[in-house]
Amino acid sequence: MFGLTHTMHTYHSNPFWRNKSLDEMTSQEWESLCDGCGKCCMIRLEDEDSGKIADTNIACKLFERTECSCTDYARRCTLVPDCVRLTPDNLGSLDWMPKTCAYRLLYEGFDLPSWHHLVTGDRQSIHEAGMSVRDRTVCETEISSETVENYIIKWPGEG
Ligand code: SF4
Ligand code: SF4
Repeated sequence: MFGLTHTMHTYHSNPFWRNKSLDEMTSQEWESLCDGCGKCCMIRLEDEDSGKIADTNIACKLFERTECSCTDYARRCTLVPDCVRLTPDNLGSLDWMPKTCAYRLLYEGFDLPSWHHLVTGDRQSIHEAGMSVRDRTVCETEISSETVENYIIKWPGEG
């Protein structure tokens, strides 16, 4: 005797991120694009000689390392003046944004990756795929400025 298990999944046959440009999206659609990778909340270092930018796993003081989220999203730009509010207009000038960032991918004409929550329907899929910074960061308030170079890291997908 065989049992059949029917698991229902929902899917988008014509998802908004494929049929709208970034500036046509509603604010809800725009916000939903963020995959919560957390990479853009990490401190970046600029090499004084070459100008090259290096990623680190040093997190902004407002970053929550396991949830991978901002603890005060509404007031982020006031509390952290160099926190950048993404818009369709400034994306083109933010070349330091992670290569896997959903906003950057769409801006550059790519589709969302297979692990993105809008594709999988599961906010955890990015963490399960190892594409976020979850539990791999230190807070900027916990380290000495002389040791920042020790925290340079290559995040998955940023090679
Ligand atoms: S890099 Fe992009 S997708 Fe990842 S947390 Fe930042 S804004 Fe969201
Ligand atoms: S203020 Fe919030 S959104 Fe901005 S970098 Fe810090 S943790 Fe990220």
